[in-house]
Amino acid sequence: MTDNPHRIALVGIGKIARDQHIPSIEGDPDFVLAATVSRHGTVDGIDAYHDLSGLFSARTDIDSVALCMPPQARFAYAAEALAARKHVLLEKPPGATLSEVHELERLASEKGCTLFATWHSRFAAAVPKAREWLAGKRIRRVAVTWKEDVRRWHPGQEWIWDAGGLGVFDPGINALSVLTAIYPRSVHLSSATLEFPKRRDTPIAASLAFRDPEGAEITAEFDWRQEGPQTWDIAIETESGNMILSRGGAGLAIDGRSVVEEPNREYAGIYRRFAELIAAAQSDVDLSPMVHVADAFTIGRRVTVEPFAF
Ligand code: NAP
Repeated sequence: MTDNPHRIALVGIGKIARDQHIPSIEGDPDFVLAATVSRHGTVDGIDAYHDLSGLFSARTDIDSVALCMPPQARFAYAAEALAARKHVLLEKPPGATLSEVHELERLASEKGCTLFATWHSRFAAAVPKAREWLAGKRIRRVAVTWKEDVRRWHPGQEWIWDAGGLGVFDPGINALSVLTAIYPRSVHLSSATLEFPKRRDTPIAASLAFRDPEGAEITAEFDWRQEGPQTWDIAIETESGNMILSRGGAGLAIDGRSVVEEPNREYAGIYRRFAELIAAAQSDVDLSPMVHVADAFTIGRRVTVEPFAF
């Protein structure tokens, strides 16, 4: 442990807080989990609060917060934490709208705090190698396939079907965060078809096409109805070889030969980066994955499909 680790509060004690944030904070010498804020959840042995105002008045030693609640509620918590001059880590997606995140950036800068909009898939082991391999290559075709079983990964999570919950773009935005990290230039959405289950606010499937200024064909298929083996792949054909980034960015094969296969250490990377950003008095807020999702909701053709129930 470093001499003066950041005393961080974890806010929204649910699935991702328990699965990833708690063990990653415990494993990082620059952070100590000093408190939790949650309306129902607590963590054994850790000081617990119901809201941020209670936390900040009782624990003046806290200098940072990690916000792990669904995106619809994130802005109010982030704004309150920044107003209290705390460094803020945002789970993905960083908010429910683009303009609210711009407002958080403004607040962070005004208060001299770090704001970190995390994209956990960008910290998957093979992502840097994929970016390096792709640089300078003439790209012909990109096929993003993100197909998983919503009942397995989001059991009972109704917020994901409510407006602002993103539906299949909740995992799909992870694919877009990787694509925007490895692709050598900006692309933009040119068409989309979104499938909405009857009486749900968010889609269960989406087909996207993007325009690349240099002419590569780029498509993405997101689907939450895939049972059996799950698929989180980005396949890229170039004039000088092919690559497949698999398992959400953990595996990389080039011309059929595996070059990276690593266990998931994404959240350890997130907390390392948060510590570096605080030390450098910087923020990191890249909204490009969220811009593509907002564009899909804007221009996407809507198709109604059969109702979904857990
Ligand atoms: P979750 O378990 O359904 O919710 C997390 C916690 O947020 C809940 O336990 C709840 O705690 C709090 N919460 C829920 N609604 C709230 C509201 N309206 N206001 C304030 N707090 C509220 O969700 P999750 O799966 O952890 O996902 C949370 C975020 O992490 C999402 O943005 C998701 O995209 C991202 N994420 C999830 C995963 C995953 O595998 N699940 C992976 C990566 C990223 P209290 O009721 O106790 O306050």
